[in-house]
Amino acid sequence: RAKTAGRGCFSFYDAALDAEVRSRHALVRDLREAAERGTMALHYQPLYAIDGHTLVGYEALMRWMHPTRGPVPPSEFIPLAEETGLIGTLGAWALRRACRDAARWPGALSVAVNLSPAQFETGDLPATVAAALAAAGLPAQRLELEITESLLMRHPDHALATLRQLAEMGVRIAMDDFGTGYSSLAYLWRFPFDKVKIDRAFTHGLGQDPKVNLIVGAIVTLAHALKIRVNAEGVETAEQMAALQHHGCDELQGFMLGRPVPDTSLAHAAQVTDTAQVTDTVDASTAR
Ligand code: C2E
Ligand code: MG
Ligand code: MG
Ligand code: MG
Repeated sequence: RAKTAGRGCFSFYDAALDAEVRSRHALVRDLREAAERGTMALHYQPLYAIDGHTLVGYEALMRWMHPTRGPVPPSEFIPLAEETGLIGTLGAWALRRACRDAARWPGALSVAVNLSPAQFETGDLPATVAAALAAAGLPAQRLELEITESLLMRHPDHALATLRQLAEMGVRIAMDDFGTGYSSLAYLWRFPFDKVKIDRAFTHGLGQDPKVNLIVGAIVTLAHALKIRVNAEGVETAEQMAALQHHGCDELQGFMLGRPVPDTSLAHAAQVTDTAQVTDTVDASTAR
């Protein structure tokens, strides 16, 4: 194709492609090193009950501070980790670290960990989860695993069997980014979900388009009829929060309530009512 554009164009195209391939190679090499050395980080974003005040847990979100490039967003390195198989190492590390951190949190705060479809392909996911819980001494009920519809589309039978195994261990299962994939409704009765997380595209559409309010209301009605709890992601305004309260959502998450922060700067100590367990109190506003 580029040959017809002349010699100069061809070598330019070639060089640009070459640079891209080499840059990608370098990034994969650095990601492998970070995965093996365990130099990634987990940040935690608070999950609040629908009142917007009662802290119920945190979602663990992976962070990569590259030594020369600076922070690389998950939207960039997670797909890379999935393509190269590094997600197995990274995912197991995230499970261990999240369980270990959560075991030190006060009360019954839960921790949610995102899983990639590739983590279901190795076949030992329940063993990896069980080992992470045991090493941390965290009750299974305090761990929530977030999966997406793409997992169920790729390997419905194997995914179903694995999810049932995990649910039997007492771990809770949430469907992330709900409403953005395909056939969401069929999966709701085939898989043992405890929670659906309404994608932030819907949250942002609230008050913008009356149809979005109708859809969110219908999701809540349907989920509740199936005894599934509803989280709304991406809450950024008081108007969105009021609409979600009106629709009867159970849980809120978003920059308005709290951004993802390192474990060391969590605000849970100030939020938990059982103050007997609280050793250091942190002003909740510092984490917002
Ligand atoms: P997700 O699981 O849907 O996580 C929520 C994302 O929404 C996070 O982005 C969070 O920072 C962002 N967010 C939270 N509140 C707001 C808000 O009010 N407004 C906006 N605009 N965004 C908000 P983040 O941390 O960049 O992660 C992006 C995605 O990367 C995650 O989406 C998840 O799918 C994936 N990811 C992150 N950590 C992990 C991990 O440990 N393992 C796997 N497999 N995937 C991960
Ligand atoms: Mg998530
Ligand atoms: Mg996710
Ligand atoms: Mg999501």
